[in-house]
Amino acid sequence: MAMTAAVARRGQPFRLEACELAAPRAGEVRVRLLACGICHTDLSARDHDRGTVLPAVLGHEGVGVIEALGPGVSEFALGEHVLMSFGSCGQCSKCRDGAPGYCHSAALGFRGIRADGSSPLSLNGQAITGHFFAQSSFATHAVASINNMVRLAPDLPAALMAPLACGVQTGMASVMIALAARAQDSIAIFGCGTVGLAAIMAARIVGCRDIIAIDIVDERLQLARELGATHTINSSREAAGKALRGLGGVTRALDCTGLPEVVQTAFHALQSQGVLVCVGVSKPGSQISIDLGALLYAGRSIRGSIEGDAVPRDFIPRMVDWYREGRLPLHRLVATYAFADINQAVDDMLAARSVKPVLIMSET
Ligand SMILES: [Zn+2]
Ligand SMILES: [Zn+2]
Repeated sequence: MAMTAAVARRGQPFRLEACELAAPRAGEVRVRLLACGICHTDLSARDHDRGTVLPAVLGHEGVGVIEALGPGVSEFALGEHVLMSFGSCGQCSKCRDGAPGYCHSAALGFRGIRADGSSPLSLNGQAITGHFFAQSSFATHAVASINNMVRLAPDLPAALMAPLACGVQTGMASVMIALAARAQDSIAIFGCGTVGLAAIMAARIVGCRDIIAIDIVDERLQLARELGATHTINSSREAAGKALRGLGGVTRALDCTGLPEVVQTAFHALQSQGVLVCVGVSKPGSQISIDLGALLYAGRSIRGSIEGDAVPRDFIPRMVDWYREGRLPLHRLVATYAFADINQAVDDMLAARSVKPVLIMSET
């Protein structure tokens, strides 16, 4: 079928173009998009070499309505509303172990193609990368894998649900699953974009004793405080390491920046047996230097995490419940844009004018 997609080319603005979408195969459905969030990962795939062959259609926080089922699909029905999270094969040892974020099938992530190397999307008669995170949702329609799909009640607002697919899931699951934060913890969260602010909301739900937000933008820190941070540090004005030591250090830390110097600061702010989880995407080749004594004798841990170790089918319904209970004020993060204004949305995100831009493909 003919559809419109925002085509990405290296270092260039997105361009809405007429594309051709093939029928869904077994294990797939065609979704008519209502909304899709923009994540830094999309820009990284466009502007850095992360294995995504360009031109490509990106977008991996899609919400929409199922309008065609692949052969044999019985788990979902026509007309159902769904949220598309990250892709996973559902069959490898990691998927079977409840760790789909570490699925062996890399094709389903940044490479943006099916496991067999094919793509459902073509432009001017040529196949292009069109299965990014098993969806490619910067488009009016997507052929997506059902493995990463979660059903949504139709009354839920698509624009607010979209970031649950990646950014909000990553922040909340990092606190609740990867860091396994508890009420007695003091937690430092470095970087107050969507992921960091979602982490703060999660730390508030957990009831962490101290929730310390670190960023360089005062407005973001103000928002962090309103969402649950008990302390804020503007690290452009004050040394975060010293300020954290002044607070006695922390038992848990989350880095959402991917900046080596920030990761080092976070590590050294840990109390004995403290844990640091890194979720920020760093520049290729980034390295950190840590004192092995500070690792060993204090029993500290440092590890990375994809999507906070969440299993979308388990964790997304929990986030929806918190949203319905009023404990997840997603409207504080989301700014909506018409699909055609995708480049404005990107500019606003990069300039910190919007926390989480969400594109609206259709109101109904
Ligand atoms: Zn897998
Ligand atoms: Zn993402």
